[in-house]
Amino acid sequence: MRHRAGDLDRIVIVGAGRAAVAAAEELHRLGFTGAVTMLGGEAHPPYHRPACSKGLLTGRQRPADAHLSFSAPVRWLPGRTAEDLDVTRQIVYTQTGEEFEYDGLIVATGAKPVSPPGWPVGEPGLHVLHDIEDAFALAGALREARRVAVVGAGFTGCEAAYVVSSLARECVIIDSNPQVMTRAVGAVTGGLVADSMRHEGVRMRLGRRVRTVSRSRRGWRLDLDDGSHVDADVVISALGERPDTGWFTARHADTSDGLLCDESLRVLGVNRVVAAGAVARWPNPWYGDAPGRCDQWIAALEQGQAAARTLLAGQRPAPAAPLQPRYWSDLFGLRIQVCGRLDGADDVEVAELRPGRRDIARGGMVAVHLRDGVARGVVAVNAPRQFTTLAREMRAAGPVARPRVSLPAQPAHQRRLSLVG
Ligand SMILES: Cc1cc2nc3c(=O)[nH]c(=O)nc-3n(C[C@H](O)[C@H](O)[C@H](O)COP(=O)(O)OP(=O)(O)OC[C@H]3O[C@@H](n4cnc5c(N)ncnc54)[C@H](O)[C@@H]3O)c2cc1C
Repeated sequence: MRHRAGDLDRIVIVGAGRAAVAAAEELHRLGFTGAVTMLGGEAHPPYHRPACSKGLLTGRQRPADAHLSFSAPVRWLPGRTAEDLDVTRQIVYTQTGEEFEYDGLIVATGAKPVSPPGWPVGEPGLHVLHDIEDAFALAGALREARRVAVVGAGFTGCEAAYVVSSLARECVIIDSNPQVMTRAVGAVTGGLVADSMRHEGVRMRLGRRVRTVSRSRRGWRLDLDDGSHVDADVVISALGERPDTGWFTARHADTSDGLLCDESLRVLGVNRVVAAGAVARWPNPWYGDAPGRCDQWIAALEQGQAAARTLLAGQRPAPAAPLQPRYWSDLFGLRIQVCGRLDGADDVEVAELRPGRRDIARGGMVAVHLRDGVARGVVAVNAPRQFTTLAREMRAAGPVARPRVSLPAQPAHQRRLSLVG
């Protein structure tokens, strides 16, 4: 496919993360010969964001190890934050005072961390963990710290807790849910992973909310909703992220939770604009009826590619961009893998790989999430082979009306629990 100048000659990509780079590469692969400009708010070249809570935080990876390589001929402009947009004249305005005209626009601005109002994030010892600068700042603070409190036990919070513990620092993790990673792995697996983390010496304050954060003589004091408090030298606020759409001022677009798109990732209400990655909310058959966002690394890659294809299709129909959610984490000796959709109302069947072990997650387990007898999601801990088989089966069956996925053949001694919740 070759694209003439005049038809779609100048493409601007706002954002320079996973989705942006994937889109640029796909444009190149499809033979787009016009100008591609990628505006990145950060000063660093595009990088592997998951490394911020892993190798970049422990120091095992240097920034250069985490860079995303790309071969597409792109004009990458770092330190350019889009601040405004004129969709009629097709111009993006940045904080530098520059204007970037486009024939096609790809929005790939990801998400930003959120903290409760009034938390003095950025003051010494009170950190968020989202980008490479956050990882450096936190790594520096951890060198001196003795006691660290992590607020929020999602993936990022638990990975941070893992790094803290591996540095032999005392770690307390606080979350309003009674288990960890509730949204990411479901309540059943989240409870088993929490048990594992306890065995590893992490102190848990689960089912508790932080009411206030204040400076104390030795660092920070967190007052919890049960009247108790936690003292820490360093606090990590890991309370989730919100799509970065503040600059997207198009009047007719729905920016209530990311940019609302059609099934091919065209932003609704605006011409010649597509979105990809954590900022895009679109009808994904894997999510059921309501459009949803997918803040995951593999999703950002696949959406970036799909958005590029849609943009090049112009006014012609473009294929839908269904996407099977899948993600992973490695912490406390647990290889956690997830695919499909998990919901609090699912029935959950758990198979233990080594029944009788006190630490079920460490011994290996698979949790299949079912609704009306139909498997919708799978979570595996230390069971990579079983996960691969199940994920492949689910993907082959597709998101709609897929048959029940059965667990792979298991040794006779294996026990299967049937849990609801
Ligand atoms: C610490 C951490 C660990 C993670 N670990 C995992 C993991 O293990 N597995 C997994 O699947 N997912 C993980 N994720 C999630 C994953 O990194 C994201 O889903 C993915 O990076 C989303 O890609 P994206 O391109 O949409 O956005 P991003 O990677 O966030 O990139 C967006 C870019 O746009 C820039 N930007 C924002 N606003 C503007 C603007 N107005 N103008 C110009 N540029 C702008 C940002 O600075 C950023 O560089 C992790 C996330 C974090 C924060």
